[in-house]
Amino acid sequence: MRKKIVAGNWKMNNSLNRGIELAAEINKMVRKQDDHDVTVVLSPPYIHLADVARIVDKDAVAVAAQNCASEPKGAYTGEISVKMIKSTGAEYIIIGHSERRTYYHEDHGLLKQKVKLTLENSLIPIFCCGEHLNEREANNHFEVVKQQLTDSLFDLPAHEFGKVVVAYEPVWAIGTGVTASSEQAQEMHAYIRSIIADKYGDEVAENTSILYGGSCKPSNAKELFGNKDVDGGLIGGASLEASDFFAIINSF
Ligand code: PEP
Repeated sequence: MRKKIVAGNWKMNNSLNRGIELAAEINKMVRKQDDHDVTVVLSPPYIHLADVARIVDKDAVAVAAQNCASEPKGAYTGEISVKMIKSTGAEYIIIGHSERRTYYHEDHGLLKQKVKLTLENSLIPIFCCGEHLNEREANNHFEVVKQQLTDSLFDLPAHEFGKVVVAYEPVWAIGTGVTASSEQAQEMHAYIRSIIADKYGDEVAENTSILYGGSCKPSNAKELFGNKDVDGGLIGGASLEASDFFAIINSF
């Protein structure tokens, strides 16, 4: 059975102290609730990772990095390797967020290397895909997403692909306040699951968690998560307040 996951992407926000405080608040809320079947993931900036991983209860809250280097080690000033991330206690890495693709020109090949390193080190990639507004308006959104998955993930053997979490994040919905409608989200999630099934078979497809991201908030999470192929969310802005993030977790 695939996992339900709600992951908070803090992006480049919060001082170290505020990050630790926020993680502690969320951990406390999740802890209190003993019947939860949702995997909660916090993705703070690199410099918070070790501290956040140390203060959360591992069985309640997991930690993710927002990015990783595409090389395993060595003379790459300013980069953070997957092994270094693993040593902090983080279990997931967000790969291919549209902000990385757009501002840092990360392409399919580079993302493929990052996914490979992540899996080699037994961490879980949360692989982001999604189209720009002009691509949706031109009715190219399915093709764009298919290309992103094919070029960065579909060379993986089935047992490796089976560990990947996919996050569908239409770029036009990220940080804009405009959310994909429930129908648009379900339609794309079902499509993603169908191309995974074409490549790896129904069992792998049925077991793959596909998260929605893009202006998801307490007021729309319930409707989005109510769709059969939406297995949770990757949450930006609304993950910066513990009460909002917790309300989203509770939307299942
Ligand atoms: C994101 O950056 O992954 C995201 C979904 O952001 P927001 O929720 O703020 O749209």
